[in-house]
Amino acid sequence: MCELKRALFLDRDGVINKDFGHVHQLRDFEFVDGIFSLCQSFQAAGYLIVVVTNQAGIARGMYSEHDFHQLSEWMLSRFADKGVFISAVYFCPHHPSFGTSATQCTCRKPEPGMILRARTDLDLDLGNSILIGDHESDVRAAHAAGVETTVLLRAPMTAQVPSEATYIARDLDHANSILEHTCSLHVAGSPSPDIDSSQGHDESPVSAFGNGSPILRACSL
Ligand SMILES: [Mg+2]
Ligand SMILES: [Zn+2]
Repeated sequence: MCELKRALFLDRDGVINKDFGHVHQLRDFEFVDGIFSLCQSFQAAGYLIVVVTNQAGIARGMYSEHDFHQLSEWMLSRFADKGVFISAVYFCPHHPSFGTSATQCTCRKPEPGMILRARTDLDLDLGNSILIGDHESDVRAAHAAGVETTVLLRAPMTAQVPSEATYIARDLDHANSILEHTCSLHVAGSPSPDIDSSQGHDESPVSAFGNGSPILRACSL
C-alpha cells in the first residue's frame, strides 16, 4: 500500500490570481501577494500543491479549454520559476445553465468531484489536507470531500458573515501564519539533503519530488 500524501488545495481566482472575473488572458493574470511564499512553505513541509478551479467561462463560451490550458502552462512556469511544483490543476468547464452539458455536474464546486479525483490520482490523505478558497463554495466542496482544514480568504468587512470554514483569513500571509501554527509546517528533524542542499548547485523541487509533468485535467461529469 502506498503512502498517502497531504495536499494543499488552492482555488485559483481570488487565491492564486486576483479575481477580475473570468480571467483567461495573460494581461489579466496578476498573482496575489504571498502566494509563492505560501506554496514554498507547504512544499517544504511535504504537501503536494493542487489547484481546483471552476471555469464556467468555458461553458459560457467566453474562452476555450485550449485558452485555459495555455494560461495554466504559463502559470505553472511562473510557479516553477519560484521553485514551486504544482502537482495538478483540476478545472470544471461546466455551468448548470450553459453549454452542451448544461446539467448538474459533480465537479463544479461546491460539489467535491475535483478533490475526490485528486485523491485517486495522487493518493492523498484528504483528512490531513488543507484547502484555501475565497468563496463558501470552495469550503463546502472541501468539507464534502473530507478535507478537514479550510481557510476562507475574505475582506474584513464581510468577516461577520457566517462560514463553515475552519479559519477566516484576511490575506494569504495571514492564512500562512494561521496554518503554520496549526499544521506543523516545519519539517521535523534534520532537513532532507535533497531539498536543503548547500553544495552549491540548485536542486529543483520538481526533481526533489521525483514527479513528472503536472496533471492538467478537466473533471468528467
Ligand atoms: Mg475563487
Ligand atoms: Zn463540472
